[in-house]
Amino acid sequence: MERFGEAVLAGASGKELASIPIPESYRAAFVRRDETEMFIGLPSTEKDPRRSLHVEEVATPELAPDECYVAVMASAINFNTVWSSIFEPLATFGFLERLGREDSWGRRHDLPYHVVGSDAAGVVVGAGSAVRNWHPGDKVVVHCNYVDSEDPQSHDDAMLASNQRIWGYETNFGGLADLTVVRANQLMRKPAHLSWEEAAANTLCSSTSYRMLVSRNGARMRQGDVVLVWGATGGLGGYAVQHVLNGGGIPVGVVSSPSKVKLLEALGCEAVIDRSAAAYRFWSDEHTQDEAEWRRLGRDIRSLVGDDPDIVFEHPGRQTMGASVFVAKRGGTIVTCAASSGYMIEYDNRHLWTKLKTIKSSHFANYKEAWEANKLIARGRVQPTLSVVYPLSEVGEAAMQVHSNQHEGKVGVRCLAPENGLGIDDPSLREEIGEDKITVFRRMGR
Ligand code: NAP
Repeated sequence: MERFGEAVLAGASGKELASIPIPESYRAAFVRRDETEMFIGLPSTEKDPRRSLHVEEVATPELAPDECYVAVMASAINFNTVWSSIFEPLATFGFLERLGREDSWGRRHDLPYHVVGSDAAGVVVGAGSAVRNWHPGDKVVVHCNYVDSEDPQSHDDAMLASNQRIWGYETNFGGLADLTVVRANQLMRKPAHLSWEEAAANTLCSSTSYRMLVSRNGARMRQGDVVLVWGATGGLGGYAVQHVLNGGGIPVGVVSSPSKVKLLEALGCEAVIDRSAAAYRFWSDEHTQDEAEWRRLGRDIRSLVGDDPDIVFEHPGRQTMGASVFVAKRGGTIVTCAASSGYMIEYDNRHLWTKLKTIKSSHFANYKEAWEANKLIARGRVQPTLSVVYPLSEVGEAAMQVHSNQHEGKVGVRCLAPENGLGIDDPSLREEIGEDKITVFRRMGR
């Protein structure tokens, strides 16, 4: 794969790239089926991705007619790679087995190893016989919605397709590797003003946030809406704050340290709550929630913005959901896409029904939503939240940073790109948008 990396950096044409043979194996980060029980009995915090994520050569799979090979210049850590690498809430090999039963192309995925990763920026180096819009040499970012077009439902909203999967989590051959295999309908143009690692950091989290807040499939945020964003400098939250500000909303960002407060202010979020300083105790013990603490959060929000949230951007789950349902405005929406702190949720239903609130579920994004989110990044209306970059050889450490909440925004991973800062094709657009804005998470992060 190094030949591809060197050729891309030397500016090789699509024809030149197409003439380089696809190697029989490539370097990839994967978890192993025979190690899925290695952490049994350990508390979640002691399950260490540095032990379970391996970086070695794996065999290159054959290409289906509707797929492309992408030489991956850079990728990023998403929380789903943390889940895969600690085998929580379950090992991902069951997903691969089910995909393996689907058809002969699906069978390729059912292997004793799972190449993980759900973000990538790179260059198309091979296209299947049925691919029309993408060609060797195209610089791309990859979105992770893996869905075929034969399910009628996918033509309404692809996220509702019965065989919808997340690439690199529920499929094999993910993005934390020097090569990946993706469906052509996962490809989008790489934003030309960004480096490889900046471009690779955005798609999963920005698209998810776009659907949750902006899309008609989400909370349909309007100008002037107050939006409470949990984890507002995290992977999802860093994009959510930007989407709220872009749409004329008023973000109230919750974070857990003074340095994150500063970062959030630099992002333009004026109303900020440091949850560590506030020391909320929504749960007085494992089984009991404390309404007085929900009320205290509500008062803190009102004192900052003079109102209750029209929308709560939810993902911590069990720890915060009771509070989120309580503080949302009468008629407001709690939009949720995750449950990092526990998925068995408890909230007081009286506050939901008597105040006519709605809990709206959301999961990644369809192609159109991902495309729109990518357009905002390509136009410099949303900035990457990349804070730090690791080489692929240190992917376990990169995942550990996210697992232990030591990071801000996105943790990037260089694959074929030998150093940071390469791949910027439109320096004048970059200058127009402003280096300071584009690198805010790297400058202000720890
Ligand atoms: P992340 O980068 O780790 O950010 C999450 C942030 O949430 C953390 O930075 C932390 O911020 C805050 N947080 C963590 N535990 C909390 C708690 N108990 N109470 C309040 N805040 C807490 O992760 P992410 O990429 O944003 O992903 C968050 C979750 O969403 C994960 O479970 C992930 O799997 C899921 N997700 C789902 C989708 C989907 O399509 N369904 C897409 C992306 C992500 P502070 O410490 O600063 O408060």
